Amino acid sequence: MNLLAHQVLRRVALWSSLAVLGATALGYWYAFSLSRDRALVQLQRHAELQGQQQEQAFQDALAHLELFRAEFLRRYRDGAIDHGARFDAMYRSGPDGAIRLAPEFFRGVRRPDGQYVSHTTGFVGRSAGRPDADLRRRLVIATDLVALYGPAWGEPFANLHASLPENALVNYWPGVPWGLDARADLDVTAGAVVAATLPANNPTRQAVWSGLYFDLTARQWTVTVQLPVDGEDGRHLVNPSHDILLDEILARLQRSRLAGARTLLMSREGQLIAGNSAPGEDAQDRGVLHVDKLDDPLPARIRRLAREQLDSGQPQQVVRDEESGAYIVFSRVAGPDWWLATIYGAEQVSGAAHRGAAIILALGIGLQVILLVVVGSVLGRRVGQPVRQLQAAAESLARGEAAGAAGLPLDEDNEIGSLARSFRELARMVEQRRHELEGTVAERTRELADANARLEELTRTDSLTGLPNRRAFDADIEAWLGTRGPTSALALAMIDVDYFKPYNDTLGHEAGDQALREVGAVLAGQTRRDVRCYRYGGEEFAIVFTAIAVPHAERILRRILEDIAALGLAHPASPLGVVTVSAGLAKAYGEDIDLATLARTADRQLYAAKASGRNRLAIG
Ligand code: GH3
Ligand code: MG
Ligand code: MG
Repeated sequence: MNLLAHQVLRRVALWSSLAVLGATALGYWYAFSLSRDRALVQLQRHAELQGQQQEQAFQDALAHLELFRAEFLRRYRDGAIDHGARFDAMYRSGPDGAIRLAPEFFRGVRRPDGQYVSHTTGFVGRSAGRPDADLRRRLVIATDLVALYGPAWGEPFANLHASLPENALVNYWPGVPWGLDARADLDVTAGAVVAATLPANNPTRQAVWSGLYFDLTARQWTVTVQLPVDGEDGRHLVNPSHDILLDEILARLQRSRLAGARTLLMSREGQLIAGNSAPGEDAQDRGVLHVDKLDDPLPARIRRLAREQLDSGQPQQVVRDEESGAYIVFSRVAGPDWWLATIYGAEQVSGAAHRGAAIILALGIGLQVILLVVVGSVLGRRVGQPVRQLQAAAESLARGEAAGAAGLPLDEDNEIGSLARSFRELARMVEQRRHELEGTVAERTRELADANARLEELTRTDSLTGLPNRRAFDADIEAWLGTRGPTSALALAMIDVDYFKPYNDTLGHEAGDQALREVGAVLAGQTRRDVRCYRYGGEEFAIVFTAIAVPHAERILRRILEDIAALGLAHPASPLGVVTVSAGLAKAYGEDIDLATLARTADRQLYAAKASGRNRLAIG
């Protein structure tokens, strides 16, 4: 992948990361508020139901006690029944001074009327003394009713019992022989539970609920509800009552507990009725539990919050415990006037939000990875590769190599494709221009060479006669000297027009020039490969004979002299009458040829020819 694709991919990665983060934050916020609202609605509804469920138990208890009262009063008013006689058959005085119901009523016995009685005990404390007829009558009725109703009114009630203000108590309690175990000197009216039923302590004669206490006889945490029953004359006769065991309340709370929630049941006074666990052994010694005495500070805080709720008159609203972040709903349990607090930890509410956000984040990252892979591969294939091809083509064009269209992304149906096609056109044009340029350069070079050759020719040529000039003479001699060998031969002739000054003087300079042209033409006519004629300067000419022409030099020169004279150019100032020339010839052989010596010899022979009368050839 090239730089461009990398840059684009980095941008895409950056922006998609930001988008994923944003979506996660939004998703978290949405999931959090959704799950919180849902959790709180669930919490509120559940708290309501649980409160009703607890309340139902207590309402059932009250209904039982009301039924007991009605039946008790009906039997008590019916004078036809002689309960006194039955008392002696059922109750016995023990050696400890207490009177107790015969143990078979606990173990199980079928009575003469056919009713089967079990789990029932009766106890008259020593302090009650010898029961009078009325007490005996009430005890028998209470024993009958407890034994009759007890088995029917089971869960969640541990037992059914009836206490009498004279310190007597009848009890139906499976597995607990309460009356048999009770100490003879026990005064049931002295305890806070029964005492609350006495007219002095309970003038309105309402059902009373005890707080949570540890029943020392049954060794169980217990709540008792009692209904004081008075006779028509206002005399306090009996208190039917149910014990509800903490274990039962706990089990009920546990069964209907909302997953992740914690429940606390407490009295208005702060007595803890039930929590998520049973009270410890040390609490048993104190007899009652108070939220302020617990190790856990939460119940005490909850009690304060419950109080505030109570004062605000808006029960069943969700309250937030700022310290722990927990959400709490209170519901009132009418009857014992208890408060049920359902507590939902902050983590229960935010857990769903965390999970939701984590899913969104994971999805986002997954999508981002897929996006980057796809974008990366598309970029590499659709952008990176074509751009690389274009780059390679541009570089080869820049190097001056023929940039072929092969490998260019010409078929791409986009800007890159059109760029490639434009590039191909450009390359084609550049190639064409280069060809044209090369052609032009070659032509110019040729023309220049021609011009140079012409110039060279001009510099070698004498303009008047058209013969090679002195410069050409020097160059040719130089070149020949460079190639000479042991068998080489060279002859040099120097030719001079006779009486030429007088010719000019008599016929004019123009005529002189014309005569020189005609002499030159004769020389040119003799010129061939081995015989080269030069205008040496002024009215002097030179002829160089090489190779096979050297032996013929004399003959050729004589012929030239004849031909010039034969031109018949009238020369009034010459004794010969026509224009003539004289010539001096010198020859040399082999490698030792010296041009200066040769030239001097030829010159000397020319003077000799002049001296001997002109129109002559002298050979040295
Ligand atoms: P000789 O027979 O001894 O050679 O006598 P000459 O008069 O020819 O010798 P000299 O050297 O005194 O004269 C040469 C003359 O040639 C002088 C000059 O005016 C003439 N001359 C040299 N070059 C040219 C030329 O290009 N054109 C014309 N018209 N005259 C030239
Ligand atoms: Mg001369
Ligand atoms: Mg002369």
